[in-house]
Amino acid sequence: GLTRHFALGAGGLLGGRPQIVRAVDDVSFSIRRGETLAVVGESGCGKTTVGRLVLRLIEADAGRIEIGGTDIRALDDAALRRFRRRIQIVIQDPFGSLNPRMTIGAIILEPLEVHREGNAASRRARLAALLEMVGLPAEFAARFPHELSGGQRQRVGIARALALETDLLVCDEAVSALDVSVQAQIVNLLQRIKREQGLTYLFISHDMAIVRHMADRIAVMYLGQIVETGPKRAIFDAPAHPYTRALLASVPRSEPGTRPAPAVLGDIPSPIDPPPGCRFHTRCPHAGDICRTVRPAPVALAAAHTASCHLLDPATAAQLRSPS
Ligand code: SF4
Repeated sequence: GLTRHFALGAGGLLGGRPQIVRAVDDVSFSIRRGETLAVVGESGCGKTTVGRLVLRLIEADAGRIEIGGTDIRALDDAALRRFRRRIQIVIQDPFGSLNPRMTIGAIILEPLEVHREGNAASRRARLAALLEMVGLPAEFAARFPHELSGGQRQRVGIARALALETDLLVCDEAVSALDVSVQAQIVNLLQRIKREQGLTYLFISHDMAIVRHMADRIAVMYLGQIVETGPKRAIFDAPAHPYTRALLASVPRSEPGTRPAPAVLGDIPSPIDPPPGCRFHTRCPHAGDICRTVRPAPVALAAAHTASCHLLDPATAAQLRSPS
């Protein structure tokens, strides 16, 4: 039931009233220990806000976030600080978050510093282990961020995120800014570290080709809501929601001569005052009257596979025209 709305400032007043961005609206999902849940959707769908809400980098307006039995919204500042040792984030472009005046070694060890963890000798040993884990030479500890490539900086971001006893890693478009060949290296690195360290990933991405490599399960978001959730195989082989089908149709194929279908029809509407009923109705080729007024409830399709669409609900499907 996670919800977060943002009021725009004075520039966002409409008729004297503040405008509200419904960034995340009644979103529910679970992640099992050791799995990768990918949250996918177009830019502006609210997936990054979901990642930050889970970390409590921003506070939810409503809803509950339970991690390993702990209700993290109920934690006070001191308890949250302790809990943060276990949840970390890797962001798209770590350059902005790497202090240009600090060496790579100091950056990676900063979380240990902040949490007053270990002594000088144990920190040196931890630094060596982390650099090796992410495939960077030991001598990189003395370098500065500007001396590294984008892929190397992302390795530093991952090492820093794993410096403490991390078990849940939020990867927010963690490979999106990298060249394709470097993307593959970082994806492989994330997969290997997950296996070796027994990590759990909340993997936020707009790139279905990367999600195909990374995910165990997928949650598809559209305009602040989850429209379909299921195991990766079900989402890729039998996508049920018209939005998921359109997203997948626009993924480039590797076969020569095949071209991706055009991306989803039209622009994504503004999350300010989103369309009523099914939020996808302004772009959906199957939309009928009921879609414009009634929000579709999740329909269970198969084991752990649900989608929210009136077409999939026998009680409402008859009211819609046949799918083309
Ligand atoms: Fe399309 Fe209606 Fe289904 Fe929404 S509920 S995806 S508008 S058919």
